[in-house]
Amino acid sequence: MSPPSQIHAVEFDSAKLQRLGFGQQQNTLLPPATLQQLHLELGLQLQTSLEAEKILATFFYGIQRLMPLNALSYEQRSADLLLKFGERTHHRASYSLSHEGEHLGELVFQRNLRFSELELAQLETLLSCLLFPLRNALMYRAATQSALRDPLTGTGNRIAMDQTLSRETELARRHKHPLSLLMLDIDHFKRVNDTHGHATGDEVLKAVAESIKSQLRNVDMVFRFGGEEFLIVLSNTCREAAAMVGERLRYAALRLTHPAPEHPIELTVSLGCATLLPAESADSLLRRADNALYVAKRDGRNRLAMAG
Ligand code: GH3
Ligand code: MG
Ligand code: MG
Repeated sequence: MSPPSQIHAVEFDSAKLQRLGFGQQQNTLLPPATLQQLHLELGLQLQTSLEAEKILATFFYGIQRLMPLNALSYEQRSADLLLKFGERTHHRASYSLSHEGEHLGELVFQRNLRFSELELAQLETLLSCLLFPLRNALMYRAATQSALRDPLTGTGNRIAMDQTLSRETELARRHKHPLSLLMLDIDHFKRVNDTHGHATGDEVLKAVAESIKSQLRNVDMVFRFGGEEFLIVLSNTCREAAAMVGERLRYAALRLTHPAPEHPIELTVSLGCATLLPAESADSLLRRADNALYVAKRDGRNRLAMAG
């Protein structure tokens, strides 16, 4: 742990967390505790979860048994994790957490009143309860994330895609938000492999995945559906807006110049777009996006087709 320092927070995925119900949690008004009691109790409680959200919420509400605290935020950039509890205010105490050279994130305590030296010392004592549970939670997150990613392109794999599709259709129905899908397929990709070799084919796949991600707000919503096919899930996006995103992706692919100077690769993609209908299942939505892609191929490729 290094001494308190100012850090700047950047919001990554708090909107998504809010939508999933990980927003503010209710303070359950636990009785006051001494530092020793709290240290002991938190030491046990924090071991009961592998989820950073739960661990930090327990920590945030636990500390309030010892001293007033308005907000706690936690950021671990490489894990793409930003969590916030409570209401932000102006006095801050920031800690950069690390253990044996491993960076475990930045923690910021906030409240209306200045922190006294005694309180800062108490916070530092309590931080020791957090270290191992937090490290375990980060390892767990990394393991679950790598199980959900396609190793070549870094996009989500089919398992992640299925999870996201059922979650997003459910959320769209519940909140009456539009939901659209884009199914993207590289045109004549077999030729790329046949002409330039499989390794170059792999590089082209990576470049296309990067190009898709760079055009989107939420990179967690891109999935490798098959060999040279990608599915893009556009939450809260209506048919017209999805069509615009699709056209943007198509143009971005045209601009890709792959590093094979002597044989430049002319790359085009075809896309199918479908928007969730009332009471439609995720499977049916996916099927309609796939059918629209088939129409785009049939009509000459390098185009976007909309599902009926
Ligand atoms: P179309 O325009 O109709 O989509 O034609 P296509 O050639 O792109 O489609 P087709 O389905 O005939 O061929 C897809 C090719 O993608 C065949 C397969 O070898 C290649 N492919 C699939 N996965 C990978 C991969 O991971 N790396 C490489 N290099 N090639 C792959
Ligand atoms: Mg293809
Ligand atoms: Mg294909």
